[in-house]
Amino acid sequence: MTTPLVEMDGDEMTRVIWQKIKEILLEPYIELNTEYYDLGLEKRDETGDQITIDSAEATKKYGVAVKCATITPNAQRVEEYKLKEMWKSPNGTIRAILDGTVFRAPIIVKGIEPLVSAWKKPIIIARHAYGDMYKNVEDKVKKGEKAELVVTAKDGAERRFLVHDFASTDGIIQGVHNTKESIESFARCCFNYAVDLKMDLWFATKDTISKKYHHTFKDIFEEIYEAEYDAKFKSLGIEYFYTLIDDAVARVMRSDGGYIWACMNYDGDVMSDMVATAFGSLGMMTSVLVSPTGAYEYEAAHGTVTRHYYKHLKGEETSTNSVATLFAWTGALNKRGELDGNAELCKFAQMLEKATIETIESGVMTGDLVMLSTLPEKKKVNTEEFLHEVGERLKRLYNAC
Ligand code: NAP
Ligand code: MG
Repeated sequence: MTTPLVEMDGDEMTRVIWQKIKEILLEPYIELNTEYYDLGLEKRDETGDQITIDSAEATKKYGVAVKCATITPNAQRVEEYKLKEMWKSPNGTIRAILDGTVFRAPIIVKGIEPLVSAWKKPIIIARHAYGDMYKNVEDKVKKGEKAELVVTAKDGAERRFLVHDFASTDGIIQGVHNTKESIESFARCCFNYAVDLKMDLWFATKDTISKKYHHTFKDIFEEIYEAEYDAKFKSLGIEYFYTLIDDAVARVMRSDGGYIWACMNYDGDVMSDMVATAFGSLGMMTSVLVSPTGAYEYEAAHGTVTRHYYKHLKGEETSTNSVATLFAWTGALNKRGELDGNAELCKFAQMLEKATIETIESGVMTGDLVMLSTLPEKKKVNTEEFLHEVGERLKRLYNAC
């Protein structure tokens, strides 16, 4: 590898898996040239979260990163890790710096049929990765207080809107924002990706209720589509389809899949977990953040699998699915290879994906998949055994070429 790959390490069970993937499946085969950032919670606390910002800047510089799942601290984590502060979600911080779009697609294997029987093809979710609730300002308001929204113009003039007068009760408030620039780049990322994959693009908001905030998303998509993509879409025979978010959810459930579903930030967060679960396991969902400047950050869609980690710490055996984390590595290596014109690296990444899929299709899988697989013969293996099984198949493929 000539250009370094930005490596963002993480927490708990996925941190354990991270190390094993490198040891068993990467280091014996390729010369791993990574620039390492430890985004584990201890290191984030120690550096005042500067390490997260540095890793995002490095991604901008080099163009490709691979990220392990990380803990987003809550009150309980602050206690557990004795944190100086309740640090923000690293993913939120990285997304804000890269201002990109997250595409999540299920890894489809024979024997794991989607729980939604109508789904035959993948549904790729594109999550807007900037703003809304993830960049909010919020507060608890006391009875007798009044909350207002104040916009200050360049010349100092103010526009005030009453949010709520909490005359008779305590309450809560939240201020959210988004930017025209970010929504535009989100729209372009989605239209471009639809053209790349030759797939229909769906988009939905709640514009009937939120006549300015949500409606602006709808308008920007429509304007960009009409001005820049209509002809391209028509020549490819693909469609841009807009509807209300609740109608979209109903249509998704009865569709047969095979489209990109562009979602606002929160919808994408929630719907991607639902779609991933229905396609199999959270452990089978890949994720890539694509920035408008062409930087890519690959990761698994799931979290740090805390419950399994606590078992692991007690010395108990775990059967945690490493496929999404593995595909984060192969996605990143493949993209690095593509950008550097390193065909061998791309070939290795594809070989590793093939070995992984072959392992599951041959009936060897982790516990989450055993419950779902319709294969007649299947064997449940533990976290490390699965990686060694993939390793055996990888060795065979590697030696054969
Ligand atoms: P999670 O880590 O995704 O795990 C939720 C449950 O889903 C697990 O307990 C497990 O179910 C199942 N699961 C998820 N991934 C699996 C895998 N690879 N193999 C087998 N089963 C899997 O979500 P969470 O428990 O809500 O969050 C844990 C921590 O992760 C939190 O601190 C959160 O902040 C963080 N998180 C990080 C990211 C990220 O970095 N991208 C995303 C989400 C959450 P069973 O226990 O039933 O086996
Ligand atoms: Mg989520």
